[in-house]
Amino acid sequence: MMRQTPRPAAALRHAEPAHAGVVLVDWMLGNACNHACSYCPAALHDGSVPWQRREDVIALMDRLAAHYAEGLGRSVWLQFTGGEPTSYPGFSEIMAESRARGFLQSVVSNGSRTLRFWKKAAGLLDSAILTYHDEFADHAAFLEVCRLLSDRLPLHVNVTMHPARFDAIRARAGEIAEAAPGASITLKPLRKGFGTALYDYSPAQLAQLSERVSRAPDPRATLPRSVMELVAEDGTAERWRANDLLVAGQNRWKGWRCEAGVESLRVKASGEILRAVCGTGGVIGRMGGPLTLPIASIRCSRDSCACVADILISKRRAS
Ligand code: SF4
Ligand code: SF4
Repeated sequence: MMRQTPRPAAALRHAEPAHAGVVLVDWMLGNACNHACSYCPAALHDGSVPWQRREDVIALMDRLAAHYAEGLGRSVWLQFTGGEPTSYPGFSEIMAESRARGFLQSVVSNGSRTLRFWKKAAGLLDSAILTYHDEFADHAAFLEVCRLLSDRLPLHVNVTMHPARFDAIRARAGEIAEAAPGASITLKPLRKGFGTALYDYSPAQLAQLSERVSRAPDPRATLPRSVMELVAEDGTAERWRANDLLVAGQNRWKGWRCEAGVESLRVKASGEILRAVCGTGGVIGRMGGPLTLPIASIRCSRDSCACVADILISKRRAS
């Protein structure tokens, strides 16, 4: 259910305190994808940027281990994205290198690889996030992959909700919930050009976007991020899912101190490295080049926090 928070907020923190000790590295290995969803900007799927070199990937893993794990005492969680990250040549070897450094890891995928691939990958993953794109997905095969993964590891499924096909996609989401009762599922609102403005949803559709689809327990301690708490000035806290904060427009923290760069890092397909998806603080380095990894929070300079991954970072009103 959508809520409003009338009290002035003083902080946004993780409902699961252990999540504050993790640096979640959103790592885009390249921009090639076997799909070309109509709502996805070409630069996120057209393969115009070559896959990152294996030696640069390994060298960055070593920097992350030295800075975040050994230096700051944080758990390092790599989350591989793309394009379609499972298409990266030697993806299994990359995951094995990550494991060897004691990192946790997950993948954000369209789920289109074979069951054989996912059976092998499941042994190297701590969780998986699949996104269902109705324009391209093989629905029966997607259900099989969800069934397999949800039996073996924490699985979250995002179902992209195009307003023109809303009811049909909502029915598909129900079928995913039946096939994989252990998975958590989000009906994901689409943003125009993946920017800040939502597609034109009707009020009824907007209300449905906050509905619970799966019966699975929503936040799982084994995920790098889950639910947040909005803390009021009087110290009382209210739990919010990131998606609900976005839909309710409660995602504006300009001027606050944000742990972007400490709890999060973003590696772009080009090899540029940022604190978070929002890009606050600018480029802090490049793969295979100079890099200064952050040790402290940063002041938010954005009018809104548009990405769910960025919402799931601790922030507090600056004193
Ligand atoms: S599957 Fe993802 S990366 Fe590929 S085209 Fe669709 S939205 Fe873009
Ligand atoms: S926009 Fe960036 S800096 Fe601002 S709150 Fe979100 S993640 Fe933090």
